[in-house]
Amino acid sequence: MSKPMFERMALIGVGLIGSSIALAARRHGLVKHIVGSARTKETVETALRLGILDEGVSSAREAASKADLVILCAPVGVCGVLCEEIKDVLKPGTILTDVGSVKSAIVEACAPHLPDGVNFVPGHPIAGTEQSGPEAGFAELFEDRWCILTPEPNTDQMAVSKLKSFWEGLGSNVEIMTPEHHDLVLAITSHVPHLIAFNIVNTAGHLERVTDTEVIKFSASGFRDFTRIAASDPTMWRDVFLNNKEAVLEMLGRFSEDLSNLQRAIRFDDGEALFDLFAKAREMRRGVIEAGQDTDQPDFGRRAKTESKDESPGSNS
Ligand code: NAP
Repeated sequence: MSKPMFERMALIGVGLIGSSIALAARRHGLVKHIVGSARTKETVETALRLGILDEGVSSAREAASKADLVILCAPVGVCGVLCEEIKDVLKPGTILTDVGSVKSAIVEACAPHLPDGVNFVPGHPIAGTEQSGPEAGFAELFEDRWCILTPEPNTDQMAVSKLKSFWEGLGSNVEIMTPEHHDLVLAITSHVPHLIAFNIVNTAGHLERVTDTEVIKFSASGFRDFTRIAASDPTMWRDVFLNNKEAVLEMLGRFSEDLSNLQRAIRFDDGEALFDLFAKAREMRRGVIEAGQDTDQPDFGRRAKTESKDESPGSNS
């Protein structure tokens, strides 16, 4: 096997994403030693028990010290605080990155704490599921998925290309863009769809003339798929919306206008307008399948219980 790319990888946060990085990096021989910390002792113990980490420590500082790759795998809202906590122990030459679903706010929160000589290359794997915690991780999560890196123009290009190779080694395709562009794209492809799912599930929950049991019992594919997305981690999503406010509000404004058009078409029996909009949406689905982002297999939500989790559809947040 070829030489690992990194001697010591520190994961700060060992939930779904952190543990999946650890499992994939080990499988592909990309790192020699994996050290991790989390908010609670229980998570670190679970990650050790599952063989995700080589070493578990009780603080982000301890994890980051002596590491040549540090990955923040915690909720978006704590990344700045974590950077401040580890700044004095980061070695010159270390690559510091993150996996947060929002980029501009993380860059802004981390920038004041970056020591000279440390290469900060923010990242976001567009891969995920609605599950959380170390038990949810699996080595194939990033295969054939995109990972977006958002380095500043003056970032050391060797560090950017090393991190790019690392993500490619985990099975991803890598694209580089600005943090602002990332936030705009993700607002429409991920953040607003999650908000709609949270909202529709709550609306159903508030109905007075339809009981909760009926909503659950007759949850045909439409509602059922929304409940899956809406089962995503509340802390993670609270932080996403608080930290990508502008782009989400911009996209939500456009969404509301388009929804009003649909409402009008229904009210005035404009079947032609409805048909045209639905046909365009169907084309978009074809594009997603052709791009390899999903399969065209019918999914009636009746998968066998024994099916492995890497075959289940992700929330790709
Ligand atoms: P997760 O499964 O809930 O794991 C979060 C981890 O962060 C846990 O280990 C947690 O520790 C730790 N943590 C929380 N607060 C911390 C703190 N103050 N200091 C140190 N560690 C802390 O979440 P996840 O899904 O892996 O998400 C992690 C990041 O990935 C988020 O920024 C999210 O935006 C991004 N992301 C998520 C997805 C997705 O689909 N889930 C996809 C792409 C990117 P405890 O368990 O001890 O609380």
